[in-house]
Amino acid sequence: MEESNELTASVSQGNDKVEGADLAEGAARCAASSADWGADRGAVADPLQVLQQVFGYASFRGPQEAIVRHVIDGGSALVLMPTGGGKSLCFQIPALCRPGLAVVVSPLIALMQDQVEALRQAGVAAAALHSALDPQESASLWRQLNEGTLDLLYVSPERLLNGDLLERLAERQLALFAIDEAHCVSQWGHDFRPEYIQLGILADRFPQVPRLALTATADPRTREEIVERLGLQQGRVFLASFDRPNIRYLLRGKEEPKAQLLRFLEEHRGDSGIVYARSRSRVDQLAAALQGAGFNAVGYHAGMEAAARSAALDRFRRGSGVVVVATIAFGMGIDKPDVRFVAHVDLPKSLEAYYQETGRAGRDGLPAVAWMIHGPGDVPQLRRFIDDSEAPLAQKRIEHGKLDALIGFTEAASCRRQVLLRHFGEALDQPCGNCDACLEPQTRHDVTVAAQKLLSAVHRTGHRFGAAHLVDVLLGASTERIRSLGHDSLSVYGIGTELDKEQWRALIRQLGALGLLQPVPEGHGGLRWGAENAVRPVLRGETPLELPLPPPRKERRRSSGRSSSAGAAASTDWGEADPQLAAALKSWRTDQARQQGVPPYVVFHDRTLLELAARRPSSLAELGSVGGIGAAKLERYGAALLELLDSCASPPP
Ligand code: ADP
Ligand code: ZN
Repeated sequence: MEESNELTASVSQGNDKVEGADLAEGAARCAASSADWGADRGAVADPLQVLQQVFGYASFRGPQEAIVRHVIDGGSALVLMPTGGGKSLCFQIPALCRPGLAVVVSPLIALMQDQVEALRQAGVAAAALHSALDPQESASLWRQLNEGTLDLLYVSPERLLNGDLLERLAERQLALFAIDEAHCVSQWGHDFRPEYIQLGILADRFPQVPRLALTATADPRTREEIVERLGLQQGRVFLASFDRPNIRYLLRGKEEPKAQLLRFLEEHRGDSGIVYARSRSRVDQLAAALQGAGFNAVGYHAGMEAAARSAALDRFRRGSGVVVVATIAFGMGIDKPDVRFVAHVDLPKSLEAYYQETGRAGRDGLPAVAWMIHGPGDVPQLRRFIDDSEAPLAQKRIEHGKLDALIGFTEAASCRRQVLLRHFGEALDQPCGNCDACLEPQTRHDVTVAAQKLLSAVHRTGHRFGAAHLVDVLLGASTERIRSLGHDSLSVYGIGTELDKEQWRALIRQLGALGLLQPVPEGHGGLRWGAENAVRPVLRGETPLELPLPPPRKERRRSSGRSSSAGAAASTDWGEADPQLAAALKSWRTDQARQQGVPPYVVFHDRTLLELAARRPSSLAELGSVGGIGAAKLERYGAALLELLDSCASPPP
């Protein structure tokens, strides 16, 4: 293990200084020496050792090792891996193992900055070339480039292709090209970026340099487009499972969105999360409501000033426990690993969008929740958006089809994850045990008679009232409205006490999904019958209905305590660790992050803090075996951490 000690020593040298260009330079020296170390032995550095020494991880994950070895051997590839799957290491490790400079194409400055900061923390010589560089940073970057001391250069596609950068790169030894967020070349998918298409010339200009395209978008058409446009026909395709087992999918019927959201968030106080809503006005309203309820919440949508938007993004990235309420404009570029929940108060556009949006939760692999409320009321509006758009008819048909798949998912009574993965062509043999359908199985009930009562109530009240009033009528409530409308004298008044409010609501949603009820055209949430030829057979008892209903209220109460509730169980469980130590570690991390002007997760992920709190390492060697602590971080933070761990004496057993 002589080599690894040498590596540790050289890495540590480079990290006496921690700021700005000095840091980059220091990092450059040590990473250069790590590469030399490989070269000295007449072979490329061993990827597993780089993984352990530089990044502090014990082993590769999924297809990472195969990908890394393929690229080190000079191969090109397309890598399809879900968000949080660990795509970055697939090019970062070959970048350190192969001689020369690795060029990483990335679409957003924020994405580049995060990765560069994280790499520098790990003692790697990385830099990003973009318009927001100050002259000093820029000068240092060019110096490093010319001296050949840089291992990874992040750059936007525009910056790469314009000017003479390609010519200058052609004079250097290049380790590889990595094209991150490669789906941006696809016109078919989302996030299309025209300038990505021109990246095809890399194949012609640099045929000897391995090219690695990476994306979390797996649909076959996007995949084909990437291969074709980036000239990857000779490369391999690596496809990882798209399952995100740490994400708990929880779907709920939509009743009172704001109140439901607040109840959900209450279980996640202190966690970072994203709330997606459809319209800008709704975003503004909800953000205000959350602030009013004492949450560290901020709104984000395309109607805001650019400065306000980037301030919101920054607060989310750098803060902890910040909740962003956003439209889908808040999307790409969210690399924050410790997003603990993604909540949808409105239906997304498609299952693809749902998967992508919820995928922003739990990148760090710790438990996270994807929570969504939905109701039949969402659907007509989405249909209208599609119909009113400028898209050609064929496109509209596709969009309607995508919406159908989404509705199928929300109405499924079986495991959510199975439905979701099946949609992406992946089979999951067993129900997952980590979604609402698995955790709170609903038994199916014969609801034929209840449905008849409900349909009669709709009819008798004139096909214009919403769910709340219909339920009041069925339960025989004595409201002002019922009395003034004289609905207490209808034959349907009070005939539905066999179900409670929640159960009636669920039934209404399901009849909506079945097309037996539909919203009145004027909006306002009123309901009327669906097609007569569907409704009549139900009324005559010719179409028996068996549908799942939530358990009666009494039972729900019993199982809604924090410890047993499905939603709460998934929030980061610092509870296991000594709370004092956990708090001390977190506040130490916050200080470090603030001093260096980086987001806290760049210093250490929650995962690493959790492991520290649980294991309480008492020596540098032990500390180095904690996940996420590589040689550079051990050198920089080791002593301070040991002191902190020591000063928080373990509580008496
Ligand atoms: P992606 O780009 O695919 O969304 P990242 O590359 O950001 O994912 O990785 C997600 C998280 O997983 C990061 O926190 C990363 O440090 C961690 N990670 C990646 N590979 C490993 C590994 N082999 N062992 C432990 N953690 C890993
Ligand atoms: Zn499941």
